[in-house]
Amino acid sequence: MHFRTLESRIVTLFLVLVLAVQLGGFFVIRNGIVENAQATMREQLRLGENLFNRLLEQKKQRLTDSARVLAKDTGFRSAIGTDDRPTIESGLITLGERIDASLTLLVGLDRQIKATTVQRPAGSLENTILSLIDQAEQNDGAVGISIFDNRIYQVLVVPVRAPVTIGWIAMAFPLDDKLAQDMRGLSSLEVSFLVADGNGSWLVDATTFNREQEKELADMLKTQGSALPTMARIEMGDSSYSVRTFPLTGDKHALVVLQRSLDAAIAPYKQLQYAMMQFTAALIVVAVIMSFFAAKRIAGPLRELTETAKRLGSGKYEGQIAVKRDDEIGKLSQAFNSMRDDIAKREVEIRRLAYWDTLTNLPNRAQFALMLNEAIATAGRQNGACFILMMNLDRIKNVNDVLGHHFGDLLLRQVAHRLTDTVGPEYPLARLGGDEFAVLLSMSEPTEARTLAAKILKALETPISLDEQTVDLGAGIGISGFPAHGADAETLLSRAEVAMYEAKLSGNEAVLYEPGLDRASQESLSLLSDLRRALDRSEFKLFVQPKLMLGSGEFVGLEALVRWQHPEKGMIFPDYFIPFSEKTGFIRMLTRWMLEQSAMLCSDLSARGIQAKISVNLSARDLLDQDLPRKFSDVLNRYGVNSSSFCLEITESSIMDDPVRAQSTLEGLHALGVELSIDDFGTGYSSLAYLKRLPVHELKIDKSFVMNMERDADDAKIVRSTIDLGHNMGLRVVAEGVESEAVWSLLARMGCDQGQGYFMSRPIPAEQLPGWVAKWTPPGAAPLERSSAA
Ligand code: C2E
Ligand code: CA
Ligand code: CA
Repeated sequence: MHFRTLESRIVTLFLVLVLAVQLGGFFVIRNGIVENAQATMREQLRLGENLFNRLLEQKKQRLTDSARVLAKDTGFRSAIGTDDRPTIESGLITLGERIDASLTLLVGLDRQIKATTVQRPAGSLENTILSLIDQAEQNDGAVGISIFDNRIYQVLVVPVRAPVTIGWIAMAFPLDDKLAQDMRGLSSLEVSFLVADGNGSWLVDATTFNREQEKELADMLKTQGSALPTMARIEMGDSSYSVRTFPLTGDKHALVVLQRSLDAAIAPYKQLQYAMMQFTAALIVVAVIMSFFAAKRIAGPLRELTETAKRLGSGKYEGQIAVKRDDEIGKLSQAFNSMRDDIAKREVEIRRLAYWDTLTNLPNRAQFALMLNEAIATAGRQNGACFILMMNLDRIKNVNDVLGHHFGDLLLRQVAHRLTDTVGPEYPLARLGGDEFAVLLSMSEPTEARTLAAKILKALETPISLDEQTVDLGAGIGISGFPAHGADAETLLSRAEVAMYEAKLSGNEAVLYEPGLDRASQESLSLLSDLRRALDRSEFKLFVQPKLMLGSGEFVGLEALVRWQHPEKGMIFPDYFIPFSEKTGFIRMLTRWMLEQSAMLCSDLSARGIQAKISVNLSARDLLDQDLPRKFSDVLNRYGVNSSSFCLEITESSIMDDPVRAQSTLEGLHALGVELSIDDFGTGYSSLAYLKRLPVHELKIDKSFVMNMERDADDAKIVRSTIDLGHNMGLRVVAEGVESEAVWSLLARMGCDQGQGYFMSRPIPAEQLPGWVAKWTPPGAAPLERSSAA
């Protein structure tokens, strides 16, 4: 089992606890047992001393009684009187044998030994007997202890009276092993008798110990010296004993030692302890097993939760955690379940936010890329092709700028609706961001893509009406496909984008990607952003070129022409950026700017007393803007100028792009009271019948015919017939590109109404016009007076 797992920790904790409790209990009990045993033994030893004394007393009594029987024996008494030694001796022997004395004797009144069972008692024994006689006389018997030959004897003296004392019977008994055995038999204590040997150490006289133990006791005594405590604990060999010592009555040289083996006393408890140890061992085994299962019950569900957490981490939310328990772990599992549900819900929401466009509820770019990659994979497997259409709405940015973002958002929603309706459910539509949308055609052909693109473009032709505003849409559509243009979503998207910009440049067509497009579109993109920046930074300048009456030389009007004052590249002419501005739709912003500047100039000039009709160029894109008349009239109102001060120049080709819409715009402008002029006349292919229907006031002969007309007879013919045609249609005829006086006079002779050209003036900054007007002198004439110019 690994120690760092929860299970092993729980099991270890249980084990340590059980061990600690058991060990603690074990020691407490063991101490208790030992103390208890010692106390019991002390008590036993104390009782042992009493018992021993009682035993000695009993013995003394029995002996005394036997001796008295002899002392009262008349035969014996008379034998003493007659000093009949054989009778006395036989009496003493009989007594000695009966009471098991090692010595029996008779002492005469002269305190001399009259008869004895042994040869002659030793001096110390004799002294003891003599010292006891006086006591015996008073107490009718006396007992003493005597040590002789390192052995202890109990000495007994009884008077023989007839009725006066006629002698004393004395007896000596050794305190021998037998007495000790008797004592043990009664008290189950070990009993030893010790004798002081005169050199300050103790000798064992008699004992219940066997030889070996006796020797151990003797050795121990030697080390103890004469100072033997009355009560102690001693170590003998391997065993320890509780000991009680006390002196034998009346003699300090004889000691009784009572002993009891501690081990023997504890032995019964040992059994108990052994049983307890077995119990502990069993308990530990049970604890381990139980804690193991408890740990499993805790750790098992935790492990399951860990697995679930890991699964959640890897985004797998399925599978409910079984909750069968009511405890904390059950609650944790429940918490886990609800957490998992919450995370799953949140992830759905995050996914929705990440993959769906919230404004239009269409898939977003990320989601589209996923779908596209899937389509690519499918097409790859089935050896087919898939295509995408990417479109960018032309005017959303302007709408946002002018009408606000809220309106722009509503418009985008409308567009999304219309696109969804147009492409139908079989082609997934996505909003890639801003005003960009894309359609996926899985398993398709280029023709299918082109057909769908045409259908979309057609659908976007109808303007969208919203909040009483009408907005023209129009989009550029780029097409790219797998496997021809790329093998992954990102590549296909970026190529479709390139094609889309090309489509915008080439004017509202759908363009299929081809490799050459990349660089061109790159440059165009940067030019477009340059133009936008130029407008923001006021880098555009208004230039004007005067228009004059060819007959009188009178200054009557001017053409507004734009210039780009680039901070690095210097003056940039319109030929460089006007065609591009028309393609990208930027021209509308530029036109607005020109109209504003012209209106400003107009009011400025009339304030100076200069009356001049200002001609402003419109392009095809402007004519598609149905709102142009309204915007123009706004501008006029703002600067307080009259619409009759303006003439708008349009080219034949710009009208022919979308004649119906162009006509409706032109009619709107005409209704304002603005004059209209057909610019670059002669270079287009418009039908006269159609021109006739337009509300036009002026024909402007293209400069390519005018510039060389005095040398080129064909040009001159064209110019002459154009003048006639114009006049026949009731139009004013203007010639541009008048570079010499010769051309001026030729045109004048042909009856052309007005002229414009380098001969009179190149285009000049608007603010220089008053100066030019003041200096202007018509060819072959004196300078006109100021009043006539007014
Ligand atoms: P356009 O409308 O035909 O303008 C007349 C152009 O002929 C001007 O060129 C003018 O400088 C040039 N021009 C005038 N007299 C002569 C002459 O005697 N000899 C020669 N060789 N050229 C002469 P510019 O200003 O470079 O404009 C070129 C074209 O750019 C214009 O042709 C017009 O189509 C376009 N354009 C200029 N300004 C605007 C504008 O504000 N809006 C629009 N939509 N187009 C503009
Ligand atoms: Ca013009
Ligand atoms: Ca022109």
